[in-house]
Amino acid sequence: MILRNIQRIIENWAPKEIAWERDNIGIQIGSPNSNVHIVLVALEITPEVVNEAIRKKADLIITHHPLLYNPLKSINPDTPIGSVISTLLSNQIAVYSAHTNLDFTRNGVSFALAKIIGLDETDFLLKNQQVNKKIVVFVPSDHAKSVMEAMANKGAGIIGEYNSCSFKMNGTGTFQPSAKANPYIGKKGQLESVEEVRIEMNVPQWRLNDVIAAMKKVHPYDEVAFDVYPLSTPSNDHGAGVIGNLPKIMSKHEFLKHCKNKLRTQLLKHNNIQNNSIKRVAVCGGSGSDLIDMAYQSGADAFVTADISYHRFSDCPPEMLLIDAGHFETEKFIVRDLVDFLKKETKNKNSNIKIFGSLKSKNPIHYYIS
Ligand SMILES: [Zn+2]
Repeated sequence: MILRNIQRIIENWAPKEIAWERDNIGIQIGSPNSNVHIVLVALEITPEVVNEAIRKKADLIITHHPLLYNPLKSINPDTPIGSVISTLLSNQIAVYSAHTNLDFTRNGVSFALAKIIGLDETDFLLKNQQVNKKIVVFVPSDHAKSVMEAMANKGAGIIGEYNSCSFKMNGTGTFQPSAKANPYIGKKGQLESVEEVRIEMNVPQWRLNDVIAAMKKVHPYDEVAFDVYPLSTPSNDHGAGVIGNLPKIMSKHEFLKHCKNKLRTQLLKHNNIQNNSIKRVAVCGGSGSDLIDMAYQSGADAFVTADISYHRFSDCPPEMLLIDAGHFETEKFIVRDLVDFLKKETKNKNSNIKIFGSLKSKNPIHYYIS
C-alpha cells in the first residue's frame, strides 16, 4: 500500500482541517508515493523507537506527536534530532504524524482515555461548531436523485451514524437565458418557469469543493444555482475532550485508585474536594487545562487530564476533582486504538500490510518516589 493511501485512511477519520492551525501534521519524512509494507505506531519518535522500526524492518512510523514541530534551521547528525532524521532517511523509513486532528476527532485520543477509565454514554466535552456548511442546490425534478447521490458520494449529508441525509422541497424556478446562454430547458430571451427541487445537505467544510464539483458534473444546467451557508450546529464528529458516566458512583478515594490502576501510573496529582461522590467524569488526553471550566460547567464530578499548573489547581472549583495523570499516561492508549483501526481498515482494502504498536515508547518523565 502506498503511503498516500494510508494517509487518506487516517485523515478520513481525523481530517487534517480540524487540527490546530500551527500544528505540523501529515507526512514528515518520505514520499507519499513510497510503498509501505510494515508500520510501527508510537506516541512519538525516540532513538529507541527508530531502532525498533529498523529491527522490525518497518518502512513507516506513525506517531501522535510530530517529529518536526518547530522549524529546523539545519540537520546536523551530531544533534539528537539530526541523528534521528539521518537514521530514518538512511533506512528509508517514512514518518507520518496525526496530532491535534487525532485529539479532536470521535474515537481519538480523549475517547481512548475515556474507554480505559470505563466511561459510558460518552460524547465530546466541547463540540466543534465551525466545521459544517449547508449546501442548497436547485435541480429540475428529473435530476434530483442523481444530484443528491453525487453529493452524498463525496461526503455530503452525513449526520452521526446516518448518511445520504437530505431535505427536498418542490418549487418553481424561473430564469431567462441570455443570447450567449446554453439552456438545458427553455429558449434564449424567454422567461421560463420550471418545476425544481430544492435539495439541502450538510457538508464538512473540507469536503465542500469536492461536493460542489460532483454536483456540477451531474447537474444538467450550464449555470447551476446553489448556495452555501455557514452553520453553527455543533459537530457530532469533531470536538475537544470527552464527558461520560462511570457505571457506578465511586468515592473520591475509589476513583483515584481506579484511575491509578487503569492508567498504570505511579502518581496522580489532584486537588482537595468537598464532593465525595464521583459519577460524571470529563477527560482530555494530554494538556487539557483549557477545558477545566467547561468540564465544571458540564457538571463533571471529576476531570482527568495532564499538564495542569499550580494556579489551575488552586483556582479549580472545590466541587470538582481535578486530576493531573500525566501527559504520556493520558495519551498512550491511542497507540493501541490506532493499530486496531489501521489493521481493520487495511484488511478491508485487501492489503497485507503489517502493523505493530511500539513496545519501546516510553514516558520521557520519570518519577522519584522514595
Ligand atoms: Zn500530547
